[in-house]
Amino acid sequence: MEEIKARIPIEELIGSYIKIEKAGKSYKARCPFHNEKSPSFFISPDRGGYYCFGCNAKGDIFSFVEQFEGLDFRGALKILAERAGVKLVHDEKADGERDRLYRVMELATAYFEEQLARSAEAREYVKNRGINDETRQIFRIGFAPDGWRNLMTHLKSKGFNEAVMEKVGLIKLKEGTSDYYDRFRGRIMFPISDSSGRVIAFSGRILKDVKNSDGSSPAKYLNSPDSPLFDKSLVLYGLDKAKSEIRRLNYTIFVEGQMDLVMSHQAGIKNTVASSGTALSEETANSVGIISNLGLVRRLSPNVIIAFDSDSAGRKAALRASGIALSLGMDVKIADIVGGKDPADLVKEDIEKWRQTLKDAKPVIEFELDNVIREISDSRKLIKSITDRVLPLIARIDSSSDQSHFISMIADKAKIQADLLWKDLNVVAKRIKEAELNANPNVAANTFTSPKNTIAKARTSSEMGKRVDLIERRLFGLIFLMEKEGLNDQASMASEKVKKMAGDSYESRFKSANDNKGDLMFEAESFFGIDAGPNGKNWEKPMNELLANFEEDILSDEIINTMHELKLAEKAGNQDKVIELAKKCQALSIRKAILNKK
Ligand SMILES: [Zn+2]
Repeated sequence: MEEIKARIPIEELIGSYIKIEKAGKSYKARCPFHNEKSPSFFISPDRGGYYCFGCNAKGDIFSFVEQFEGLDFRGALKILAERAGVKLVHDEKADGERDRLYRVMELATAYFEEQLARSAEAREYVKNRGINDETRQIFRIGFAPDGWRNLMTHLKSKGFNEAVMEKVGLIKLKEGTSDYYDRFRGRIMFPISDSSGRVIAFSGRILKDVKNSDGSSPAKYLNSPDSPLFDKSLVLYGLDKAKSEIRRLNYTIFVEGQMDLVMSHQAGIKNTVASSGTALSEETANSVGIISNLGLVRRLSPNVIIAFDSDSAGRKAALRASGIALSLGMDVKIADIVGGKDPADLVKEDIEKWRQTLKDAKPVIEFELDNVIREISDSRKLIKSITDRVLPLIARIDSSSDQSHFISMIADKAKIQADLLWKDLNVVAKRIKEAELNANPNVAANTFTSPKNTIAKARTSSEMGKRVDLIERRLFGLIFLMEKEGLNDQASMASEKVKKMAGDSYESRFKSANDNKGDLMFEAESFFGIDAGPNGKNWEKPMNELLANFEEDILSDEIINTMHELKLAEKAGNQDKVIELAKKCQALSIRKAILNKK
């Protein structure tokens, strides 16, 4: 481990994942673990560590890869060892329980591959679907033959017992007996890997149209159940093969099925991942699952094109995922696949058709707006449909200047007054927030969830503690620190600015900060110590960044309050006030947009 650490400088590792810039002796970046506009993520080469004062994420190269790629420690070790060119010595005797689970999945994968080579029928099927030999090998596509105990017998001969196989979902207990049988039978097998490439689950597609003994049809696709290795809310099919292209091209293509994914990769479009077998595609999946699934790709790139099937289920899933992606601050486009086809069909027919479909992808809000306008001709119904289908997407966006942009677009395209749309947006936003809080009291709508969920919790609890939130905490902490170090001019200058920005709320903000002065100073010291320059304390730059962040927060608060007032005025039927407040909302949004450009 020490050898790996010595060979991989932390700034080089993190720099290969995200854009970083030099700041004195350290580096800074926009944090990959929470949604932010100005950088509060710092990397210290001296300490070999990173720290984010926005969400408190911290650690070394190992924990970075774990957090970023959603892996356990062993998975991160595998990736880093490969990168450092260090050979990991594998001692089977020292293997823990988890290692044995990975081993049994690996053996099962190899077994299914072997069976495919032996079955002409299975090979024929794969070929007919358009998959060539090379792709088949890259994705390790295999075949689980008919029969109840093929895999189980094979794995037993390799020294594994039923308990291990059951744990990873390869076999099942026959109800009311102590007999086990193979879960996957007569299926083409697609192994699902974690981002380090270890097989953690399978998705099996039925080979022939057969009937169960009771006359029902078996499921077309059968996925591994959740297991100690596989949490379907944390995995995307193909991510291990797509991640470097996603980083290089700076966008992700999301498809539904594994066939779509495999065919897209075969067509050379390798920044594609699929949601199949994972929480994203399931109606019953909770939003936390989708957030973490999307979170995985968001860390690689904020841009995503969703290309789901054009049937109504596919469309619904795409819009649902879009809403969540928008609330994570992602830029979402929808590729419209026409004629009831799926991406796999397009690629098989003509690769160019698939490329063109991706090129024609539209921002999701525009996409849905165009759908509504095309489908609804009655003008009264149009407003209602826009409120039901388009405004919820806009409500998910964090940036109020982006919201303004889309409101103007609707006003323009649908010929509806902007004031009216703002008012409806307000109502929709509130409804969404309430629904989300009810469904999931611990996760706020636009809180980004880390694999281990710790960040979300930290955020929410600080919000509930009636917000001396983190930016404000650091800001006052640094002012206190400056005072302590005798930098009184700098401290009072910063205080003046804070007073001006916070206005009436300054007193109460200052008071709650002052009540926690000891903690705040300690945090600031341990954090800003990093930036101490050669001539003593060089805190001007971090202070300016904090002030900019603070101003943005204050403006956001003000926008929310104004929108609330707007709603009250509307209820009271005070039209003059409604117009005045709507204008104020827009003005504030513009100010915020200007601030963001700085
Ligand atoms: Zn962060």
